[in-house]
Amino acid sequence: MSKPQINRIRVAIQKSGRLSGRSLDLLKNCGLQFARSKDKLFWYGKDFPVDLLLVRDDDIPRLLLDGVCDLGIVGENIAREVMLERNGGKGLRLLRKLGFGHCRLCIAVPEEMNISDSTELEGKRIATSYPALTRYLLEKKGISTEIFELSGSVEIAPGLGTADAISDLVSTGTTLRANHLRELEVLFESQAALYGREGDVSADRQLLLDRLLARLEGVLRAAECKYVMLHAPRESLKKITELLPGVEHPSIMSLEGTDRIAIHAVCGEAVFWEHLEALKAAGASAILVLPVEKMLA
Ligand code: ATP
Ligand code: ZN
Repeated sequence: MSKPQINRIRVAIQKSGRLSGRSLDLLKNCGLQFARSKDKLFWYGKDFPVDLLLVRDDDIPRLLLDGVCDLGIVGENIAREVMLERNGGKGLRLLRKLGFGHCRLCIAVPEEMNISDSTELEGKRIATSYPALTRYLLEKKGISTEIFELSGSVEIAPGLGTADAISDLVSTGTTLRANHLRELEVLFESQAALYGREGDVSADRQLLLDRLLARLEGVLRAAECKYVMLHAPRESLKKITELLPGVEHPSIMSLEGTDRIAIHAVCGEAVFWEHLEALKAAGASAILVLPVEKMLA
């Protein structure tokens, strides 16, 4: 595929899989709209000059390195693997972790294997779909192993006798348990992230990238924030402010004819039921928690 036009940005996202829905929602929440093409691989950006390329997640880092797209949303696990395998561990710039697609690359061993630490895997055979990343992370710990690459169903390798242990992505651990494996050690924590390419960008294109990144930051910050409104006794202001997660300077309004005040604040951190219960215990009433739709700092 040819490189993007000078005045447009091309973003690669996963076509279908664990990351595709959230990636698309995130871009749509940035106000982007797309005209879908018939082959469904290339979506043209309608109001904002940002086009989409829908591909397999494994291809995204290569497309970025080759200059076929400017941005990509992919798991850190894949980005690191491709950079290590193909580019000396470099070439891509992590612009923003996106808060979804969480998983961990773990070393897992058969339940009955008597081993407490990955250093005991020295010289052993490890099956994985992430050979470069696994080798790199184990070597960093001073452990050298025989890495055995499998493109899928890594968890069955120890049972088949083709490997002593595995290095695989885990989110809940159910697959490991079903295959009588136990998690020995976490090698790498991963989530979906927005990546760009290292190196200089033309001024026009940088302007576009900055605009898109500012919108994205606004959407992500808004998703993390809540707008809280409540009533409280005037003398509890300090205590209430301390109890509001991620708030330093709330807005205060007096409530006519009472000694109570209304407090409004944007909470920069998650608001849980425990926070509300603590606020109530501190004298707050009429507590409302509202979502923040958009935010531009
Ligand atoms: P594709 O067809 O695009 O190659 P895939 O089958 O390789 O898809 P998915 O299973 O959709 O990929 O996973 C995409 C990404 O989701 C992974 O690279 C990883 O970053 C993340 N992820 C989150 N949880 C898990 C999990 N439990 N197992 C595997 N990947 C996970
Ligand atoms: Zn894949």
